[in-house]
Amino acid sequence: MSFPANNDIVIPDYLGEYGKGTAQMDKDRRNMPEIEEEEYEQIRKVPLGEDAEGGEAASSRPARSRKPGSNRKEEGTHRSRRRGSSRGKGRGRGGVPLAPLFLACMLGIGAGLSGGYYMWGYEKPYMVDLKAVEVPSWVEQDFIRKNIFSRPDVTITRVNNIVIHYVANPGSTARSNRDYFDSLADQDPEAGGTSSSSHFVVGLDGEVIQCIPVDEMAYANSPRNSDTISIENCHTDETGEFTQATYDSLVKLTACLCDQMDLTSADVIRHYDVNEKECPKYFVDHEDAWQQFREDVDQAIADKSWEDVL
Ligand SMILES: [Zn+2]
Repeated sequence: MSFPANNDIVIPDYLGEYGKGTAQMDKDRRNMPEIEEEEYEQIRKVPLGEDAEGGEAASSRPARSRKPGSNRKEEGTHRSRRRGSSRGKGRGRGGVPLAPLFLACMLGIGAGLSGGYYMWGYEKPYMVDLKAVEVPSWVEQDFIRKNIFSRPDVTITRVNNIVIHYVANPGSTARSNRDYFDSLADQDPEAGGTSSSSHFVVGLDGEVIQCIPVDEMAYANSPRNSDTISIENCHTDETGEFTQATYDSLVKLTACLCDQMDLTSADVIRHYDVNEKECPKYFVDHEDAWQQFREDVDQAIADKSWEDVL
């Protein structure tokens, strides 16, 4: 039996906890609201701005003589005096009007917070129940054994992209590729070994085997394993071009998953787009064929044509 030379990820013997930990960190990072540098600067300026104001005022008079009751008025007069004089002499920093600066800071906080809430709110809700996603009747579900090398039993909670691959082993079948992923379970965890898998494999005759449930992580395209679904595709020769049967099944399977996972063809990407691996080779070498594939996926989503294949 020939096995595919698909060594997308080689994980050493300490893989077990490390692999899961990395996946979890990856997921956590994804769920954190990101703050743009500009917004961060605006937020950061607020305490510094207040400091600067108080500091300047304090430094221009004896610090210990300040009394709580007189502060406000004193600051007010000091401020206006300073503003007036610096305006006259055209000085840079001292000439910034404080009220507009304060307003600008408040606007900055507002923008930062609302931006943060927006991103947080945008990122958080995920309405797709991955456990409820169904595959077409012509997909054979033959899950591989749970093991640290190819089915790590890590739950994924959202799918942002569907990633297309080719097996890089001309002539190999969907069955042999599925069995290869399963056979990785027999490696000695102490000794380390090869780590690789995929949710689906599409065969030369258009047959499809599902190796891993869609709410579990596969080892197909690091570092995006924790929020992607992977589809491997068989091919007959080194060019990596798919047979018409493989292509048709791939289009319909991808459309079916997109439809249920609230994705469009814009969310369908190549392994190449994840980490620049030359995979799937034909779609990397032929950009026009890749764009055509995406259009065909869109058409299939519109037609809901996945039920009439095979
Ligand atoms: Zn790949």
